[in-house]
Amino acid sequence: MVQHHRVIIIGSGPAGYSAAIYAARANLAPVMIAGMEPGGQLMVTTDVENYPGFVDAITGPELMEAMRGQAERFGTLMIDDMVTRVDFSRLESNGGKLLLWADSGDEYSADAVIIATGAQARWLGIESEVRLRGFGVSACATCDGFFFKNKRVAVIGGGNSAVEEAIFLTQFARKVTVVHRRDSFRAEKILQDRLFANPKVEVIWNHRVLEILGTDDPKSVTGLRLAEVASGAEQQIELDGVFVAIGHTPATAVFKDHLPMDADGYLITRADSTATEIAGVFAAGDVKDRVYRQAVTAAGMGCMAALEVGHYLNG
Ligand code: NAP
Repeated sequence: MVQHHRVIIIGSGPAGYSAAIYAARANLAPVMIAGMEPGGQLMVTTDVENYPGFVDAITGPELMEAMRGQAERFGTLMIDDMVTRVDFSRLESNGGKLLLWADSGDEYSADAVIIATGAQARWLGIESEVRLRGFGVSACATCDGFFFKNKRVAVIGGGNSAVEEAIFLTQFARKVTVVHRRDSFRAEKILQDRLFANPKVEVIWNHRVLEILGTDDPKSVTGLRLAEVASGAEQQIELDGVFVAIGHTPATAVFKDHLPMDADGYLITRADSTATEIAGVFAAGDVKDRVYRQAVTAAGMGCMAALEVGHYLNG
């Protein structure tokens, strides 16, 4: 049987939770389908120092737990399932509803949907990375850093994620080499200063990764083969682990052919709004934001989406 709800929120990061808090407090009885990784990217983050309201750092999981509790306290119904298919065509034969199917086999219809499915880590796309993933190659220092006590690791990338992961890894590793394809980072200055001040860190500028070197029996990482971007000159460095931190891809595969998205898969919404082209479908957070991608901006957009849903449902 199809379960009908007024508002269904897909995804459970800061955008989803904040949408849930606002929608619940507006008596819209929201239902959240939380996804495979409830809490999203912040669940694999250590200290969050820039979310307003916390003088002392709060950890990502603590922040998400608090947001979830707050959403539940105001009456959000949490469903630990994953949306695998949608139909936003609002056919008359379906009563003009928005339709969703979940991994469990459950079916839902809704008057309004807020998409807050976030983004996932991006990979380099080389064969050796796939072969050695989970055997010394990771995209999550918080999850796997502990395994590299007194070892040598590399972090690939030059954004906030790469610099933060490198700093975090210095707690475990004896040496952290950051490999970046340009001659400057795009990470925040305060993070860069922290990185450069750490004696365990070395940066290799203007190099790209050709291959992650490793053994097959046992499967493990032994190094990196790098090329200087301008000259192509190759060098190898010895390592025990590689952390890839080169950005994210929005989690929008399930919405392909159902909603407009840009070339990189980010959902497109109207200017200064979370409304998509489909009436009653809204998008908030990293799934539609390639620029800011902060917990606080995602939460802000979740709030906007819930307010816009309220206006939409009240005509
Ligand atoms: P990002 O800012 O997009 O940076 C990605 C980095 O990876 C860039 O330096 C990029 O190089 C490099 N890169 C991309 N593709 C590559 C490839 N194929 N090979 C080698 N290098 C590649 O991504 P992010 O660091 O994950 O951050 C995403 C967003 O989250 C940002 O807005 C960031 O501010 C935010 N964030 C914030 C915090 C915080 O506030 N504490 C923490 C983490 C993330 P180029 O520089 O040459 O493009």
